[in-house]
Amino acid sequence: MFENLQDKLNTAFRTLKGKDRISDINVAATTKEVRKALVDADVNFKIAKEITDRIKETALDRKILISVEPGQMFVKIVQEELTELMGGKAEGINIKGDPAVILIAGLQGSGKTTFSGKLAQHLKKQGRQVLLTACDVYRPAAIDQLKVLGEQIGVEVYAEPENKNAVSIAENAVAYARKSGKKIVIVDTAGRLAVDEVMMNEVADIKSTIQPTEILFVVDSMTGQDAVNTAKTFNERLNFDGVVLTKLDGDARGGAALSIRQVVEKPIKFISTGEKMEALDAFYPDRMASRILG
Ligand code: GDP
Repeated sequence: MFENLQDKLNTAFRTLKGKDRISDINVAATTKEVRKALVDADVNFKIAKEITDRIKETALDRKILISVEPGQMFVKIVQEELTELMGGKAEGINIKGDPAVILIAGLQGSGKTTFSGKLAQHLKKQGRQVLLTACDVYRPAAIDQLKVLGEQIGVEVYAEPENKNAVSIAENAVAYARKSGKKIVIVDTAGRLAVDEVMMNEVADIKSTIQPTEILFVVDSMTGQDAVNTAKTFNERLNFDGVVLTKLDGDARGGAALSIRQVVEKPIKFISTGEKMEALDAFYPDRMASRILG
């Protein structure tokens, strides 16, 4: 995860680390290297410039030139700025409601179904009664996939294989949850390989009909800038509440993790780092910044 970025940042810091004296020229040169590392990691140039301008300013303001360990102090400032860039503090999901309804949206292959299973397991472990709902009416295999996951984690899956109307399936699932005492309904929707109107209309219809308490947008972090653009499109249409970044285990660059929050102005809430049901973590911007800095 983030290997490229980590290497480049560490190379950038090398000129400062261990030195007991540095000059403003050193700071400017290192900041420039940090900016380059961020752009190479697929962070949008404007964002990379803004954050590195701030890093330079803060570094000089805090008089790191005359501090005891200027290199270390500089890394700390970068860590703080990266944390801010990713949203500052961790944000949870809203599971209030009777039942609470969590709508999962995103492109096909982004990891929606896998994440739905993971989230169900995560909530079940907290002692909550969860119902998973298969709303992909285009791929029968998607229903089976969710059923297999449900069985694996011991969570009931609501599906209507004969019904081709995703909106009514979602509606029926919520009614079923209410009747059967389930407190949380996770609705896994259909995705396409690219954003298209039919898909967007369908998710938007599901949203307006079942009025979810939480809408999570799932995106494959390995797609870099595309991930950010897709997030923007989905957000314009759905006004979602949070982002789930998947496949971070294979993401050597990290651009999506770093840029999404700034561009879309919605928090990353979970990260997924593998295919196994356990590979799910709540997103903590400060922890992620530390990880990036290695
Ligand atoms: P959906 O079409 O959006 O429902 O996507 P799926 O949940 O079916 O996931 C697509 C593929 O990505 C599957 O092979 C998953 O096992 C895999 N996958 C999902 N999340 C992750 C992850 O975090 N890391 C890795 N390496 N693979 C993942």
